[in-house]
Amino acid sequence: MSVGVLTQMSTFDHEQVVFCNDNETGLKAIIAIHNTVLGPALGGTRMWMYNNEQEALNDVLRLSRGMTYKAAISGLNLGGGKAVIIGDSKKDKSEALMRRFGKFVNSLAGKYITAEDVGIGTKDMEFVMQETKHVTGIPESYGGGGDPSPVTAYGVYMGMKASAKELWGNDSLAGKKILVQGVGNVGENLVRHLTEEGAKVYINDINEESLKRIATQFKAEVVMGEACYDLDIDIYAPCALGATINDTTISRLKCSIVAGAANNQLADEMVHGKALMDKGIIWAPDFLINAGGLINVYSELQGKGYNRERAMNQTSKIYNTTLDILRTAKQENIPTIAAAKRIAEKRIYEMGKVKLSF
Ligand code: NAD
Repeated sequence: MSVGVLTQMSTFDHEQVVFCNDNETGLKAIIAIHNTVLGPALGGTRMWMYNNEQEALNDVLRLSRGMTYKAAISGLNLGGGKAVIIGDSKKDKSEALMRRFGKFVNSLAGKYITAEDVGIGTKDMEFVMQETKHVTGIPESYGGGGDPSPVTAYGVYMGMKASAKELWGNDSLAGKKILVQGVGNVGENLVRHLTEEGAKVYINDINEESLKRIATQFKAEVVMGEACYDLDIDIYAPCALGATINDTTISRLKCSIVAGAANNQLADEMVHGKALMDKGIIWAPDFLINAGGLINVYSELQGKGYNRERAMNQTSKIYNTTLDILRTAKQENIPTIAAAKRIAEKRIYEMGKVKLSF
């Protein structure tokens, strides 16, 4: 039996979902606003060939909720939102489609602010920008922050160092064996930080060209396919896809820390968060340590506009927040995801009360 949209929205308390259709351009999009207590809902637009509309709806509801937690735990005055465009980003994208999408974003009058995500780049944001001012992630030439990936990688690196500090009493990664799975925009920048610090880096990807190039440039060791889950390493950094921490992989993992950029790394948040804890593996919450990209686009909305130094400074705070969460989780013997979500929810609750006061 299919579940109605409103029922689905009430499950995780979504505020608003907007369905956008335009026959002229072929635009079929969904904008989901999860929570705007802390501020306007900011989240990227993903363009993907979903198998059906239900899959697209599930994705946008899940992703927008994740953005609420990411913004809240990072101390940003932003709510959580996300948009998906159904289609093939290589074939179906056009200036007209992106501008029509921009008009829909504009119709929400700033309640939702968009940015790029999978399948959407800064060039597309240039088109969206023609129709709305509620857009971030715009090119540097227009005063924006450009590609957020280096900032995201820096935040992941900070979260990884904090995890090392908590576990080994020292945050140096020199000599540590670290697997970076997915050496795309974020993964490559992470490999750079790790090799500069003297870590022994292993890389895994499905793109053989990237593997070859990065292995040569950084003297990293290539590990092909699923064998990466059996490696005897200190740290596993998932920087490709979500849900790589699941029933099958957990029993194989031999690392002490999991800290990476991928969104939704735990196939089932509570089940696999606890399973990692029971196995003695520290999990640095993904929505906390990969928030550098969001912090970067947030900087475009602040004060006199984008400032890389401010974005990097704010991203470096991920180190202390990670330490706080890991310590709370240890003291209370709860999974790190539970500790992280509690802090985010507390901030939303408290700021909601401040807003209601005179
Ligand atoms: P990307 O597309 O540039 O890189 C992803 C890499 O993963 C590619 O090299 C791809 O070949 C590889 N990959 C895909 N499937 C794989 C598989 N099954 N096994 C191994 N490798 C595989 O993406 P990105 O911008 O580097 O982002 C990486 C992850 O971090 C994504 O999950 C993304 O949602 C998340 N993230 C990115 C940012 C950002 O600023 N770019 C911010 C927050 C979260």
